[in-house]
Amino acid sequence: MLPKVQLPETRRMISLTVRENTRLSPNFVRLTLGGSELEHLHDPGFDKGVRLFFPREGQDELRMPKLSNNAWMAEVMLLPKARRPWVRNYTIRAFRPELHEIDIEFALHGDAGPASAWAARARPGDPAGIWDLGRMYLPPGHADWHLLVGEESALPAILSILEHAPASLVAEVFLEVPEVADIRERVEAPAGVRVHWLARNGAGSVPGRLALGAVESATLPTGPFYTWAAGEHGLPTGLRRHLVNERKVPKSDIAFFGYWRHGRSSPG
Ligand SMILES: Cc1cc2nc3c(=O)[nH]c(=O)nc-3n(C[C@H](O)[C@H](O)[C@H](O)COP(=O)(O)OP(=O)(O)OC[C@H]3O[C@@H](n4cnc5c(N)ncnc54)[C@H](O)[C@@H]3O)c2cc1C
Repeated sequence: MLPKVQLPETRRMISLTVRENTRLSPNFVRLTLGGSELEHLHDPGFDKGVRLFFPREGQDELRMPKLSNNAWMAEVMLLPKARRPWVRNYTIRAFRPELHEIDIEFALHGDAGPASAWAARARPGDPAGIWDLGRMYLPPGHADWHLLVGEESALPAILSILEHAPASLVAEVFLEVPEVADIRERVEAPAGVRVHWLARNGAGSVPGRLALGAVESATLPTGPFYTWAAGEHGLPTGLRRHLVNERKVPKSDIAFFGYWRHGRSSPG
């Protein structure tokens, strides 16, 4: 089943430059990217995803696709590798239109991933670009409360969802991070939101398993609820299986997104 996505009415390729690189905690950096083309970014907020373009090692400039339609991927893949940019998926964590700035938060996982390696080293003035992927957090009106579950790659989306949520939101949030020092001291969220932080601290080889186990054994509130789950493939798919089979939750009330797969590079 394809996930439901709310796309903006119009979108185009947006070229940006890095303005700031801030270390947030041992396993997270925040890149602030800016540029006047952000006037073409529409309806940001919640879990708005983007395709992020950035240069390969050794490239002096970033070659952004010229096409602003779905054929951009073919355009990129037809380029020789020497001129082709890297492309990965990320979430807009914050948007400051008055400053023409966005923030993206990267969960670092060493140099094996081009995006992780680039984010760790990006400097002010470095080029980047984005293509709007839309919003996938689309809760139905009949949910009494929300269940939000993710590991570090979904932390930016969950924090953004909470920041944009109405004051009436009631939610149980399960957020897994690599270590205790990655837990955010302050989470901006409505009063009815309870955040359960889970830190692997070196235990468990695959991100997401800890969060999955925690929800499986949790006593959850009663009443109809909407689930949004994302992260390493095994977390959202395992959680959906559990909710449908063990808790008899209707499939239509579960939004689940495999953000990445353990041991496999993202295509692009
Ligand atoms: C809609 C969407 C929004 C996303 N938003 C964010 C975001 O805001 N912040 C964020 O950090 N990630 C986010 N992700 C996940 C991110 O796209 C992937 O983690 C991506 O694979 C990272 O690219 P890479 O080049 O670093 O590694 P890749 O080249 O894709 O992979 C290299 C190796 O690293 C492993 N790997 C990939 N990601 C991780 C990880 N997070 N932890 C441990 N190992 C990993 C792979 O299994 C592979 O073995 C999002 C994904 C989607 C689909």
